[in-house]
Amino acid sequence: MKTVFPRPEGGLLAVAGSDVAFPVRRIYCVGRNYADHAREMGDTGREPPFFFAKPGDAVLSIADGETGAMPYPPRTQDLHHEIELVAALGSGGRDLTPEQAAACVWGYAIGLDMTRRDLQGEAKKTGRPWEVGKGFDHSAPIGPVHPVAATGVLTRGRIGLTVNGQDRQSGDLSDMIWTVPEALAYLSTLFELKAGDLVFTGTPAGVGAVRPGDLLQGSIEGLGTLQVRIAT
Ligand code: MN
Repeated sequence: MKTVFPRPEGGLLAVAGSDVAFPVRRIYCVGRNYADHAREMGDTGREPPFFFAKPGDAVLSIADGETGAMPYPPRTQDLHHEIELVAALGSGGRDLTPEQAAACVWGYAIGLDMTRRDLQGEAKKTGRPWEVGKGFDHSAPIGPVHPVAATGVLTRGRIGLTVNGQDRQSGDLSDMIWTVPEALAYLSTLFELKAGDLVFTGTPAGVGAVRPGDLLQGSIEGLGTLQVRIAT
């Protein structure tokens, strides 16, 4: 069908070892999924997982070996990094069991859930939505998707982030409160999951602010590294 202007393009991610791209549909994020980060944000105990979303075109795709350039976003004085394992879905469904959900994972990537923490904090205080804190343009820098066929299922392994060479975040994938299949299964009771959906699976402790010019280096065992510079 004709459209009144060209159909907006969605996000595309590079695929490791391939020139075929991974088309992005939606971006879901799990909140507070590592106990030490949940504690630093004020939680106690194992609560049901909760979710928020970013627009699919908030992705900032970074190819293998590249250093991405993320513009410093407007209206914030407190841009925070959150290093996360991203599950990239090749299929989906509703009301999935964890086993069914696990089978939907096409691959994994390293992602940054960049956050305007001051705006998010204000939203929390006033009971308003989180979009301005979480869903801004370029708020989801993501490296290439590594097919699960190559990596195997990731259940453990170091996840970390340095800023200008200084350690900031460190944890292990096995520290997740809700495993990837559990989080996906829960999410599928709220939304029908589909191919192209990305799920950010939460961040370990150590979130903090970055400034223009800073170099962020994320790593997840088995997925290599992700390098992003905050543009000046
Ligand atoms: Mn996050």
